[in-house]
Amino acid sequence: MAKTISIAIDGPAGAGKSTIARRIAKELGCYYVDTGAIYRTVAYFMDLLGISPKDTDGVERYIDELTVQIEYDEEGLQHMIMNGMDVTADIRTQDISQKASLISAQPVVREVLLDMQREVARQHNVVMDGRDIGTVVLPDADVKIFLTASAEVRAKRRTDELLGKGQKADFQRILQEIQQRDYQDTHRAIAPLKMARDSIKVDTSELNIEQVVETIRNIVREKTAL
Ligand code: C5P
Repeated sequence: MAKTISIAIDGPAGAGKSTIARRIAKELGCYYVDTGAIYRTVAYFMDLLGISPKDTDGVERYIDELTVQIEYDEEGLQHMIMNGMDVTADIRTQDISQKASLISAQPVVREVLLDMQREVARQHNVVMDGRDIGTVVLPDADVKIFLTASAEVRAKRRTDELLGKGQKADFQRILQEIQQRDYQDTHRAIAPLKMARDSIKVDTSELNIEQVVETIRNIVREKTAL
């Protein structure tokens, strides 16, 4: 099989990874893989079973009962299929965000998902976003980007996004949740969120989406034939 091209985009919650990664993937004709959604699906599954994301024994006992599939619709949107059921919308709550962050610290979860993520990248050209793509999942990725922004900017964007959808949003609470997830994600023992040595940092605090896409497009052009 010909060597595939992979672009890793890591960074903290709310840095705009999925928006940017989706755009870049579409432009380049690559698969977009949102790995956070896979952790969210595991968290949702355990939640339905009443297993706490901190319950290592419980998570280990039931992880084999779960099959996760990634499917794409005509618009290229990623759907998460949990034991045959489309849970794409169900995994997007604040509650599941927190539980995904906690469950992602469980070694068995990271182990199971590692193979799955690598397999997709082995078969397709991918833009993959997450926390440990450049450091652990695809250490040989052709391009590694670390997308970040201040916690305040990320919380403000998330607040505006929710308000824009007509949902309730409290800036202070969202900021607190983002800071808590940052802390958990950077302090866990296995595959913590950190910048790979050969990653290029893009701080989006002062940039709009177009400017971020343009910046990344230029980096990708420099490093790949895409
Ligand atoms: O990116 P998203 O906010 O959907 O991710 C949810 C949680 O999944 C993160 O807070 C993080 O703890 C975990 N995650 C991870 N490794 C990844 C992607 C996500 O640990 N590659």
